[in-house]
Amino acid sequence: MSDNHTQAHTDHLDGAGFETRAIHAGYAPDPTTGAVIPPIYATSTYAQDGVGGLRNGYEYSRSANPTRTALESTLAALEGGAHGFAFASGLAAEDTLLRALCRPGDHVVLPNDAYGGTFRLFDKVATNWGLAHSPAPVNDPDAVRAAIRPGETKLVWLETPTNPLLSIGDIEALAAVAHDAGARLVVDNTFASSYLQQPLALGADVVVHSTTKYAGGHSDVVGGALVVDDDELAETIGFHQNSIGGVAGPFDSWLVLRGLKTLALRMERHSDNAERVVEFLAGHPAVAQVIYPGLAEHPGHEVASRQMRRYGGMVSFRVRGGEEQALAICAATKVFTLGESLGGVESLIEHPGRMTHASVAGTDLEVPADLVRLSVGIETPEDLLADLERALGATS
Ligand SMILES: *Cc1c(COP(=O)(O)O)cnc(C)c1O
Repeated sequence: MSDNHTQAHTDHLDGAGFETRAIHAGYAPDPTTGAVIPPIYATSTYAQDGVGGLRNGYEYSRSANPTRTALESTLAALEGGAHGFAFASGLAAEDTLLRALCRPGDHVVLPNDAYGGTFRLFDKVATNWGLAHSPAPVNDPDAVRAAIRPGETKLVWLETPTNPLLSIGDIEALAAVAHDAGARLVVDNTFASSYLQQPLALGADVVVHSTTKYAGGHSDVVGGALVVDDDELAETIGFHQNSIGGVAGPFDSWLVLRGLKTLALRMERHSDNAERVVEFLAGHPAVAQVIYPGLAEHPGHEVASRQMRRYGGMVSFRVRGGEEQALAICAATKVFTLGESLGGVESLIEHPGRMTHASVAGTDLEVPADLVRLSVGIETPEDLLADLERALGATS
């Protein structure tokens, strides 16, 4: 049903640029009041004009809500897909996708450094329902091909860049690998955002977002999204979205929609600031290695340059002196806030081994103990560099 709404207002924007679509797709000024921003439709139900006489298809807000519709249309327009779906979290989106596309006995190929929550969903929850998974490095299409179980593998799951090691997967190549085996390619586009990377145009079947991160962009909302171009796939996902019910509420939808309007500006600044930070870290004696796909020596640089507009705001680095030094740096910054998550306007620093990736210690997904991850925000770049200078200097 949400399909009627998803297509509502976008025709005159065909061919429009990303920033124009971010601001105008999905919502036209309200015909009764002229409000240029969609209201937060805090309503669960809708008056009917006679039994079954729905106004614009709205019946009950789990099925569809006008604020969520505006967000879903915008998500679709920004990813270059025909259908967007908004969820209560990134993981709610992923769970709905699994149930829509997989059955007991099926198999999924996962990145060997998948987002921890995604790994847990497959490893601790989906396995109980008979869904198998195996890991593969996203930067090696042959290894992904080898991990596929013919006839059983329904999904090849890709994150690029990955978290926290920022490996790059070739979306076009992996779409071909998946499709050769009769599987679908799912791309978690959270780290790059719709502005920097457009997986559907490169052959992906489904795009996943944690809109909690760059899409929302202000660390004030938890949300998720799925975007597809295929009508049949959209039908199945829409059915499961409504049947399972993990939908985004109207206020959360409004916050993500507000965030998306400035996505392009923010991603440009995140990328500018990250480049400054990378340059600074690369020249610092306390730093052993800087990991950023924008660096020519990064093994995925060439693929990233082909499929990304810029290289984004996530930077990881390894320090000299091991875990102790890494923890000391995380504790010493003041402008970079010590915290999990990413993609907000404020800069964050964290120690993946002890924080975001603590749950994968001792598994294939374990990350180096001397690794520090930055989500570079949009503050004044000189202040970020001074903060890092102070923190690195205090510990070396
Ligand atoms: C945060 C995140 C998720 C999960 O999203 P939630 O909104 O926290 O449920 C999935 N994938 C990636 C890459 C993430 O960073």
